[in-house]
Amino acid sequence: MMSRTMTQALLPKRVDGPKLVEVNQHLSGKIDSKQLTRLSAATLGCDPFVECVADFDRDDERHRLLIGRCEAKVVMECQRCLEDVSLDIRSEFTLAMVFNDDQAKALPKRLESIELDEDGRLELWEIFEDELLLCLPDFPMHPEGECQAYSTGPEQDTAEEVKRPNPFDVLAQLKQK
Ligand SMILES: [Zn+2]
Repeated sequence: MMSRTMTQALLPKRVDGPKLVEVNQHLSGKIDSKQLTRLSAATLGCDPFVECVADFDRDDERHRLLIGRCEAKVVMECQRCLEDVSLDIRSEFTLAMVFNDDQAKALPKRLESIELDEDGRLELWEIFEDELLLCLPDFPMHPEGECQAYSTGPEQDTAEEVKRPNPFDVLAQLKQK
C-alpha cells in the first residue's frame, strides 16, 4: 500500500491546516515512533518509523478536511499465550477542522472534528498517534494456528474468555465510516 523507502522525509509536526486546505496539499512522510510516547506505553515495541499520508481538502459543503492514512507494525502481548505478537496496524480517518466547540457542534454527524489552535495549526504527529491508539486491539492475539496456547493442550478455558467482541474495535470501525 505505502512504500517503505528510507529516503522519505519526516512528516511535519505542526502544520497550518486552513492554508494547506487552500492549496489541496498532499503530504507523505514518516513519524519517528520514539517520540510517540503514548503509543510506546501502550505497546511492547513499534517500527522505528510510522509511514503517514495526509491530504488536505474540502468536501462539497466546504468543510475543511484532513484525510489521513498511516500504518505501523507494533508488538503487543498475546492475551491467549502471553508471548509477543506482532500486529500490523492500519488507520484511515477523515477529520473536519474547526476553531471552536460551536463549529464542532454544527458539523453533520458523519464528520468528526479536530480543533485548530488559535493560529490555525494542527499537531499532526499527535493526531496520527491518537488514531493509531484507537486501532490497537484491547485483546491482541496470535492467529489461531500460530498461538502457543494451542500447542500446550486442547483444554484451554482462557481461549474462550478472550474471544468477546471488543467494543473499542467497533468504535474504531464506526469512526472510519
Ligand atoms: Zn498467542
